[in-house]
Amino acid sequence: MEPTCRACLVYDESLTAYDFGPTHPMNPIRVDLTVALAEGLGVLHHLPRVAAPDATEDDLATVHEPALIEAVMAAGADPTRHDLSRGLGTDDDPTFPRMHEASRHVVGASIEAARQVWTGAVDHAANIAGGLHHAMPDRASGFCVYNDVAVAIKWLLDNGAEKVAYVDVDVHHGDGVEAIFYDDPRVLTISLHETGQMLFPGTGFPADSGGPDALGSAVNVALPPGTADAGWLRAFHAVVPPLVREFAPDVLVTQQGCDSHRDDPLAHLALSVDGQRASYLALHDLAHEAAHGRWVAFGGGGYAVVEVVPRAWTHLLSVVSGRPLDVDLATPEAWRSEVSSQLGVRPPSRMTDGRTPAFRDWREGYDPDTWLDRAVQATRDSVFPWNGLDPQL
Ligand SMILES: [Zn+2]
Ligand SMILES: [Zn+2]
Repeated sequence: MEPTCRACLVYDESLTAYDFGPTHPMNPIRVDLTVALAEGLGVLHHLPRVAAPDATEDDLATVHEPALIEAVMAAGADPTRHDLSRGLGTDDDPTFPRMHEASRHVVGASIEAARQVWTGAVDHAANIAGGLHHAMPDRASGFCVYNDVAVAIKWLLDNGAEKVAYVDVDVHHGDGVEAIFYDDPRVLTISLHETGQMLFPGTGFPADSGGPDALGSAVNVALPPGTADAGWLRAFHAVVPPLVREFAPDVLVTQQGCDSHRDDPLAHLALSVDGQRASYLALHDLAHEAAHGRWVAFGGGGYAVVEVVPRAWTHLLSVVSGRPLDVDLATPEAWRSEVSSQLGVRPPSRMTDGRTPAFRDWREGYDPDTWLDRAVQATRDSVFPWNGLDPQL
């Protein structure tokens, strides 16, 4: 625990206007339920709220083509106007009224989180409505209209950061962020995800390791379906801490999609909230150890909106605040009855899934007979030498 960490949550209620409609998997109620649970457990006492400004068109244009911004504005003004070449009006990214305004507000929140950390106002800042890592320079993709993560990283670079490390633990490949900085040696992107052989967006393999000017700066760990806490944490610790330490960033930016959970309906990994919490603790440690304590944390995917997201991200917020919650807490009765009456489902009664997230350290040996170990070794072989590290150690 780091009781001296200063931290904030960038949040206001209008962030939940980023809403693709009642039948879409990414229901913004997951953010409301998280904030209510975090409040009920006292997490927000140590995590002051900061309002989210709107990003400007100039902010968006640091990573997006003007033609995308114009197309999002047009679609938001008249949602019957689909632009499939820009990814707008698809099943993943349906158009909705005021789409531009809602999307740029999420980006503004992420810039604000970056600004809070970079100016030294806080050590850590979170925007759980952010983490829209699939958006590309020229098109919306995978529930993501604008890439708030990439705009925030660009803001850090434009305001004096020389090196930014980005770690993406969402179950999907962080393809948009990776693409935007693929040939930029100032940004190390690391994505751990279910292999693209099985899952959207179908990319993110070990050999995809950065452009010609930035070899080794893109890192992909393509995990087998079914990977659970022990395997996931083994892979994380075999790849992420050594690379981030060696890169020595000015700031750590992370995306905490919690769709890696075994109950998530859209993917096939099998983590528990206990394993996810262990990853948040490891990222917090890494921020202090290797990034001057500067940590900007975003949400991301997560489609078990009652069962998983509120608990996972409440743990995340407690770690960001420097006061991690006990795993073995009950969820507050008032929160449970509010969820039951609002949604007609019984929410989880405990903050734990009852798992103990132990794992075998990579240095204890490599087993080429397992898909997991072969996947991890392939990533190490691909990128460690470019980063001055020995893939065999
Ligand atoms: Zn801290
Ligand atoms: Zn995802």
